[in-house]
Amino acid sequence: MMDFNLTNLSSSSADGQEEKHVKVLILGSGPAGLSAALYAARADLAPVVLSGLEHGGQVSLTYTVENYPGFPEGVGGVQLVELFQKQAERFGAQVEFDTATEVDLSRRPFRVRTYNTTYLADTLIITTGATPRHLDIPGEKELTGRGVSYCATCDGWFFKDKEVIVVGGGDSALEEGLFLTRYAKSVTIVHRRDELRAGAVLQKRAAENPKIKYLFNSVLTEIIGKEAVQAVRIKNVVTGEESERPIDGVFIFIGHTPNTQLFVGQLEMDAGGYIITDKLMRTNIPGVFAAGEAADPHYRQVITSAGMGAAAAIQANHFLDEVSDETESGKAAEKSKSGDFVAEGLAAEKV
Ligand code: NAP
Repeated sequence: MMDFNLTNLSSSSADGQEEKHVKVLILGSGPAGLSAALYAARADLAPVVLSGLEHGGQVSLTYTVENYPGFPEGVGGVQLVELFQKQAERFGAQVEFDTATEVDLSRRPFRVRTYNTTYLADTLIITTGATPRHLDIPGEKELTGRGVSYCATCDGWFFKDKEVIVVGGGDSALEEGLFLTRYAKSVTIVHRRDELRAGAVLQKRAAENPKIKYLFNSVLTEIIGKEAVQAVRIKNVVTGEESERPIDGVFIFIGHTPNTQLFVGQLEMDAGGYIITDKLMRTNIPGVFAAGEAADPHYRQVITSAGMGAAAAIQANHFLDEVSDETESGKAAEKSKSGDFVAEGLAAEKV
């Protein structure tokens, strides 16, 4: 029988690291994590959120979010995350600027180690998000931060009146490419096929922007530069022809990899490394839930991540209720076996 604490408690582990017992521990502070925190806090579960290395997740790197309902004029990514957090904190959620480094899901409560603390968690909600995928071509790693970037909002400003390439043909490539036209002289979208994957609205907006150009059926094979990006080698995948092209910056938006390495061997995942959940956000381990991009290879929207986070918190609450009921009925059964109930009944009669 699991023994669940009703309050968050602190103590020290054998190696001197502070131990904190929490009912709900949320890993990640993007829309999924903060929505889970809001719902868990409103269920009076005093959730603790470990922000992870990227506080607010990917949306905090997005300049404007135009498709989150309730903001008809759009809302800044950073601002939206701040609002999420404020709302969750208002009901008692605690956001810690800390990162999980080790997770042990084989014991209950679950053990999550960070740099300073070991959390003992009755339930765990994993909302660790995803990281931009890399091209893995020569020069990419060496020139990251020196002309190679995965975030237009972060680095666009450095490319005022410069010429940049955006790799990818999805929504991210077009959205970020459009954002880059605020600064850059030209933005060339390099896509490996002759047809974009991006949705119609973004395609129309890009088509109307005179700074956006396209290079279809093309892939980068090398990024060239010493101190900074100077050129790229581009291959036409139809003709096989390769050419070199001078360029100031390369922005790469070719999808994402889920941040789930910490749970390999403990949780069931698909071939892409996304945590497998059922419709109730439950993983293969009872009491462990996953939401947002760590578990979603399909939608990757603020609204869907937020919805999944809320659902995970509701289920965590149900799980704790069920376990607490089981614990109570287990205790009751033991008491009745030992005759305590009879004694209690007699005592009650006397009062
Ligand atoms: P995505 O839809 O998976 O698109 C990735 C793009 O990169 C595809 O065009 C793909 O080419 C290309 N690509 C993949 N690997 C490549 C490689 N090794 N070399 C060259 N090109 C490569 O990823 P995303 O654009 O990040 O979008 C992910 C999800 O988020 C989607 O569901 C999207 O709708 C959503 N999203 C929505 C918005 C919005 O609504 N405003 C904004 C951003 C993202 P192929 O087309 O040939 O596969």
